[in-house]
Amino acid sequence: MADNDKTVEKEAEKIDETKVTVENTDKKEDDEYEKVCFICRRPESVTGKMINLPNNISVCNDCMQKSFDIMNSGQIDYSQLMNIPGMQFINLSDVEQTVPKQQKVKKKKEKEERKPLVDIRNLPAPHKIKARLDEYVVGQEHAKKAVSVAVYNHYKRVATDTMDEIEIEKSNMLMIGPTGSGKTYLVKTLARLLDVPLAITDATSLTEAGYIGDDIESVVSKLLAAADNDVEKAEQGIIFIDEIDKIAKKRNSSQRDVSGESVQQGMLKLLEGSQVEVPVGANSKNAMVPLTTVNTRNILFICGGAFPDLDGIIKERLKKQSSIGFGAELKDKYDHDKKILEKVTLEDLRKFGMIPEFLGRLPIVFTLQGLSEDMLVDILKEPKNAILKQYQKLLALDEVKLTFDDEALRAIAAKAMKKDTGARALRAIIEEFMLDIMYEIPKDDNIGEVTITREYIEGTGGPVIALRGQQVMRIGS
Ligand code: ADP
Repeated sequence: MADNDKTVEKEAEKIDETKVTVENTDKKEDDEYEKVCFICRRPESVTGKMINLPNNISVCNDCMQKSFDIMNSGQIDYSQLMNIPGMQFINLSDVEQTVPKQQKVKKKKEKEERKPLVDIRNLPAPHKIKARLDEYVVGQEHAKKAVSVAVYNHYKRVATDTMDEIEIEKSNMLMIGPTGSGKTYLVKTLARLLDVPLAITDATSLTEAGYIGDDIESVVSKLLAAADNDVEKAEQGIIFIDEIDKIAKKRNSSQRDVSGESVQQGMLKLLEGSQVEVPVGANSKNAMVPLTTVNTRNILFICGGAFPDLDGIIKERLKKQSSIGFGAELKDKYDHDKKILEKVTLEDLRKFGMIPEFLGRLPIVFTLQGLSEDMLVDILKEPKNAILKQYQKLLALDEVKLTFDDEALRAIAAKAMKKDTGARALRAIIEEFMLDIMYEIPKDDNIGEVTITREYIEGTGGPVIALRGQQVMRIGS
């Protein structure tokens, strides 16, 4: 009998224990969710600290203040309210917090402190920055050099805050290069190396304030978002504005140019450094979003564009110069000059439609080359995160070795060259034929090695498959 009692007690204890752990896990789960304002439904990350009322009800400061204001303004006559039939006051204790979990915003996990590869307060010399870029970006030696020096100077100026008598000018940059030559990639790599926030925008989406499209200042709010709403971090970030050639002054246009010249005008202040009021956590200013001020003085602006037809303008200028006097040269000398873009001057850019004030605020101008077939082959295999390495790693997880014949790489590069979209075409081509490989190989556990051949790329044969027992098999040939 006594034994029985004991076991019953033990059981009861056990149940109690499980109850406690269930409660604990509930609490833990609740901790992972943000509080939501009972009145306006906004989460705590947006509203700021909430006021907790009994029964898990939280109200944000704004709504609490509004409620007090209404009460104090005397708009409500409580004595009358009580007399209205059907009107009753809500007893808060009757109301349970009924917000379903899926309507709450999950709190962001605190990220581990990441150590930047390049510390901007202890900046390495330009050649070291370039060496890091070399690991990722193939070719484009001049561009990498120019970027490394500009970034070095810029962040040195930021870190030492030397804005005394000798004012160091901001190192904003203008990058000119055909599509797919790695402009965006270069900037992205740079921001990652320096571990600074980066915002990438398309100049085509920008319009003068008040017109349909994004305000020019929206680029700063994008940067703020990229910096997790940390103003101090954002103020040391990089803003990349792509397709900058699309905001060239429209020629022969009598209409108001709200997306061209006006955008250039509007950007002047940002480029130079000014205080900008930006909405926090939203793209546009409205009554519900708090505003904060960001100073763009230390933000590095990099503009990039393909500038089609710019080569024509440069050629014209060069031809005009060389056709005068004894130094006259052959007229078609520049027609096949692949490096013609490198000869660009501010005058050419002005002719293209960029206004002088705008160009004046981008003191560093450099060009990227169109990629050659050899460079494309290197891009496939050399960078630290090269596409081939990514596929090799994926298959290595299945314990399959993936190799590419050199001839196959040439064939891929040749195919990409025809598309005329630079390195961007590479991924599309590779993905097309890797699909079958990635689908078929995991089916058969015996496969130990796959070699991609030129024939496979050109559609005249198949890959070479080696089974784990060393037999070699040719598929589809
Ligand atoms: P752009 O901005 O000049 O049009 P991107 O930077 O978007 O071109 O390039 C597209 C892709 O091509 C990049 O994501 C990158 O993987 C690859 N790429 C381009 N140029 C290079 C390069 N020089 N080195 C390594 N990869 C490159």
